[in-house]
Amino acid sequence: MPKELTLPRARTKLPEILAASVKTIFDSIGYSIMLDLKVTIDDHSGFCFGVVYAIEMAEDILDEHGYLYCLGDIVHNDEEVKRLESKGLRIIDYQQLAQLYNEKVLIRAHGEPPSTYELALRNHIELIDASCPVVLKLQNRIRNSYDKQENIFIYGKPGHAEVVGLLGQTHNEAYVFQGMEDLDLSQLPDKITLYSQTTKSTDKFYEIAGKLAAAGVEVDANDTICRQVSNRDKELRLFARKFDKVIFVSGSKSSNGKVLFNVCKETNPQTYFVSKVDDIRADWYKGGEAVGV
Ligand code: SF4
Repeated sequence: MPKELTLPRARTKLPEILAASVKTIFDSIGYSIMLDLKVTIDDHSGFCFGVVYAIEMAEDILDEHGYLYCLGDIVHNDEEVKRLESKGLRIIDYQQLAQLYNEKVLIRAHGEPPSTYELALRNHIELIDASCPVVLKLQNRIRNSYDKQENIFIYGKPGHAEVVGLLGQTHNEAYVFQGMEDLDLSQLPDKITLYSQTTKSTDKFYEIAGKLAAAGVEVDANDTICRQVSNRDKELRLFARKFDKVIFVSGSKSSNGKVLFNVCKETNPQTYFVSKVDDIRADWYKGGEAVGV
């Protein structure tokens, strides 16, 4: 048997899939018994509160109603999406939304631009709004900046669902960029208001703000990175350095997952990204190693 097994802290209505996934991972690495691996699960692991809230909202309606439309993947985790689809969740895109009338549609944690709410109104769609409060607050701040005619720059990924929602607050006039390489310093206004997508790296955000200031741009830098992401940095670094190997479990499409995986990998180069049990490989381990999950 593994020498040590620390189970995650119990949480209110933690999606069963998460607990099941973690257990399956342990079952799957049956060779941990042969190799005498010491396996520890990070007790802070799990979905952020914004995603848990959206999943709980969807499940309540699915239990009552039998089906529910959701605009885009409810969470960037294929296993969890499959589980909810088996309960009646129907993932749709914008084209499908435009063809829908008189139905309930869930808005996921990433939030939506105003145009989605306008379309819902026209099509008599009842929106179940599970936009994360952190994202809604950011949307409001950007809208206020837009109303004040500030030059808005958003550090984020163009086309990402949250960014589409943020950009929508400015009638798509804000400038979205992924790094200094996307900015032409000679074309920048003297003064800009800088925001960030909630799941970007805090270090990179401040690095960009510093470089812009050094280039003579007056920057009103608004660190709008979600604390569920940025506060995890320090804890994850402490966690990752305690183990010979780290398995980082996340959906392959999750921006948050990518940022946090990189944090682990920087601290412990022996970190492996897995999104499903089959991704785990026996040859990653040597006998007697300590493995953090
Ligand atoms: S803003 Fe934070 S809490 Fe909300 S969905 Fe994004 S990562 Fe989760």
